[in-house]
Amino acid sequence: MTRVAFATLGCRLNQVDSQQLQAALEARGFSTVPFGDAADVVVVNTCTVTARAEVSDRQAIRRARRSNPDARVVVTGCWAQTSAEEVARQPGVDLIVGNADKDRLPRLLEALLQAPRGPARIEVGDVRAATSVPLAELASLAASARVAATALGRSRAFVKVQDGCQHRCAFCVVPQARGPSRSVRPERVVEDVRRLVESGRPEITLTGVDLGHYGADLAPRTSLAALLCVLTEIRGLRWLRLSSMLPAYFTEEFLDVVTSAPAIAPHFHVPLQSGSDRMLRAMRRPYRAATYRRVVERLVDAFGVMGLGADVIAGFPGETEADAAETEALIDALPFSYLHVFPYSDRRGTEATTRSQHVDRATVARRAARLRALGAAKAAAFRRRLLGRAEDVIVLETRDRPSGALVGLTGHYVEVAFDGPDALMRQVARVRVTSAAAPVRGELVSMDAAVA
Ligand code: SF4
Repeated sequence: MTRVAFATLGCRLNQVDSQQLQAALEARGFSTVPFGDAADVVVVNTCTVTARAEVSDRQAIRRARRSNPDARVVVTGCWAQTSAEEVARQPGVDLIVGNADKDRLPRLLEALLQAPRGPARIEVGDVRAATSVPLAELASLAASARVAATALGRSRAFVKVQDGCQHRCAFCVVPQARGPSRSVRPERVVEDVRRLVESGRPEITLTGVDLGHYGADLAPRTSLAALLCVLTEIRGLRWLRLSSMLPAYFTEEFLDVVTSAPAIAPHFHVPLQSGSDRMLRAMRRPYRAATYRRVVERLVDAFGVMGLGADVIAGFPGETEADAAETEALIDALPFSYLHVFPYSDRRGTEATTRSQHVDRATVARRAARLRALGAAKAAAFRRRLLGRAEDVIVLETRDRPSGALVGLTGHYVEVAFDGPDALMRQVARVRVTSAAAPVRGELVSMDAAVA
């Protein structure tokens, strides 16, 4: 059996792509081994969102080659899409497959294994012309019970419903790497989610790059709100979680749906980037700070306690101390449960690289450190709010290494370690939070928590 290992860098969407590729390869008879183990093929699924991400891509390729000198090394993902020639110059790369061509990867790989060794082959099409969601076919395959057990999480599954982005934020390379917004047809999403829930996954996360744009490209046109109305009716689904979504998409219709369906997880990741309107305009973000605040306040009114995450950029060109202070004040005022802080770095081909007034590195690092400290304080305050509360959790399939305890994930996206039998894994349980210090601890209240 041909052994394949994966190294996946970057966002959740890339991880979902890897899971789907893994499922497709397993369906063709490959067996998956951990990255670093002996393998015949190593697939490195790259990211290009920051300069640091590309450093990690290069390290992963080097490690793939070092740990398996005789294996074929395949590089795919966003860095492969935007910088194929540069990837080809990395020693030991055999095949480069762009994002638009990811669904051809299993066939390309099989051909590669039959061919004698040669220079790196590049299979990178124009993703700007893409009209469908790559790997949607493979997603359906992955949702079928036979291969899903290995390739997808056993208790939680991720379903890609959309790819690409309609926006042109000044700092972002993603539209070049993933192309325009495209959606998976709702019938297919519903069928895949139904199959995944029926095969024992009580939690599904819908992922996309520009998730709120879901359905606008389809004929007939539809929307994420309409999709959620159908999905939340699926029996056995405890949590339907949404990946990152711009505040501008939280329309009244959408808010009505997410605040009224019990299966929607009380956890939203709403990228902020800056709390200064001057900076949001400079970044070409399609919202202002007041919109962001309004959306969060409306969600908090409905949910009370809810997980809230955001991405924030420190030191975008032109950012002054006053802008940075506005960002910190907005974050301080809202109940974030975690923050992802990105020190600004130039991405080739983006508008922001051409801007004057780049902030010096030391200042960027200082502002990023302040934001990280603020994020840590907000996360600790959030955990304290959970103390004493009984929460439904999805019990994950692996135990906490140091303590041996079970690990349950709350709807708010907080892991709670608690004692209990293996039989609880992949089930919904109710747990009371007894200690809010990280890692959060709890005790089992009941094993048969309600399923929506
Ligand atoms: S919304 Fe902006 S930041 Fe997000 S992927 Fe699209 S272009 Fe990039």
